[in-house]
Amino acid sequence: MNNPHYIDSHAHVTCESIAPHIQEVLARAQSAGVKTLVNICTDAQTLALGLELSKAYPWVYNTAATTPHDVEKEGEFFFPLVEQQARANTLIAIGETGLDYHYKHSPIDTQKHFLRAYLKLARTYQLPVVIHCRDAFADFFEILDEEYVWDGKHGPGVLHCFTGTLAEAQQVIERGWHISFSGIITFKKSEDLRQVVNEVPLDRILIETDSPYLAPQSKRGKPNEPAYLPEVAEVISQIKCVPHQLVVQSTTANAKQLFQFS
Ligand SMILES: [Zn+2]
Repeated sequence: MNNPHYIDSHAHVTCESIAPHIQEVLARAQSAGVKTLVNICTDAQTLALGLELSKAYPWVYNTAATTPHDVEKEGEFFFPLVEQQARANTLIAIGETGLDYHYKHSPIDTQKHFLRAYLKLARTYQLPVVIHCRDAFADFFEILDEEYVWDGKHGPGVLHCFTGTLAEAQQVIERGWHISFSGIITFKKSEDLRQVVNEVPLDRILIETDSPYLAPQSKRGKPNEPAYLPEVAEVISQIKCVPHQLVVQSTTANAKQLFQFS
């Protein structure tokens, strides 16, 4: 394929395990055609590194928020730092925020509190939102509809690393949101999720690695990195019986529409 341009819409490249090898990881990403990368910053350290990184690598963009797992421990401390950067216009989105009732590492009420706070912040600064939602869609949609009326000026947000049902995917799409699929769709046991991929229109889909987590099937057991993104695009092209190139073009155009990279 000639000169592809993939966008990894969700990777944690300033996390502890990738940061020491960041130059090699980003070089391999470029060689694989991953030419735009959304780095998800989840605490003060990953955010500080992310802001430095995007100066040296202008194709790396940052988002920030405390994940639903960590809001009990770190939510209060990190929120003002995210707000400061949103005000300074250094972030392309707020996230990942959301609800995770699968692990419940933080109490549900604390997760809801920070989801509301981050949605309000995103509205204030007119930024899209990156959402992590696991086993919590009913509460997520209820809070979303109360706190985040879409003004139509930008893409409202993305449900990252989507593993929900087709009905949940449809509710995401109805609200004008995007759905991002990760290496999970390449796993042998993800047959139900591949059926969801088949039903979600190509103009709503983003792709991501969620590095360093969730390496795709051919790399399972290894730390994931953005260079492995093409495997996710390839599985989508197989599921939908469309050319790989079309998946690349669509997912890249969708990510550009959502994040408004400049
Ligand atoms: Zn993530």
